[in-house]
Amino acid sequence: MENNRRDFLKKGALLGLASVTGALFGKDKLENIQSVTEQLAAEGTTFKLPDLPYSYDALEPFIDRQTMEIHFTKHHKAYVDKLNGADLSSLNLKISDAEKCRTITEKSPAIIRNNLGGHFNHCFFWENMRPNQEGGTNLPSGKLLESITATFKSFEDFKKEFSDKALKLFGSGWCWLIIDQNKKLKIITTPNQDNPLMPVATEKGAPILALDVWEHAYYLKYQNKRVEYISNWWNLVNWQKAEELFAK
Ligand code: MN
Repeated sequence: MENNRRDFLKKGALLGLASVTGALFGKDKLENIQSVTEQLAAEGTTFKLPDLPYSYDALEPFIDRQTMEIHFTKHHKAYVDKLNGADLSSLNLKISDAEKCRTITEKSPAIIRNNLGGHFNHCFFWENMRPNQEGGTNLPSGKLLESITATFKSFEDFKKEFSDKALKLFGSGWCWLIIDQNKKLKIITTPNQDNPLMPVATEKGAPILALDVWEHAYYLKYQNKRVEYISNWWNLVNWQKAEELFAK
């Protein structure tokens, strides 16, 4: 398809989605990212940095502008660039990035495992947060809250277990809330850029929430105080997005 026509179709699809999804905060932007990702997958196109759903300073004061800018334009971009520079013949490019992650085995080349994971995890992480300059109460609702309470006793107990696991994860990696293979909510961690969709993960499932605990995610503002980064991150969780993922 020639470029003009493709751009026209893409924009049309995005406008359609934006008008349907309405004025709920940020929802149209999240849908746009999803739509572009699916479009690229359908075209068999290689990997692209998504549009960040907010500005670099939008997560202040909890995550600072400089950290966001470097994290997105240097770290995330490096995963995308390395992925595009790799031999991709072992990957089916026509499926979604989540589905691609489900094909990663012990035999997958490290360059694919690490950089596909890095790309997917960061796309997920950006959508997983939303601006909240005021802080204050930031809670899930509906079925997700019910399920969290049923599984972990209370939201506070859930938050404590998640924070503890994120804090105690040795080295670089991620902390996740997932729905495991028995349809139960579970808090897990993965090393490096692995994620719970990958068959190589010790504990597998569908991600609902993710926290990047690599030092690059917090060191400029928090230095060695990972505990403060984690406790401030709760102000930024986009529970609406988590509830959508939980409902799937
Ligand atoms: Mn990161």
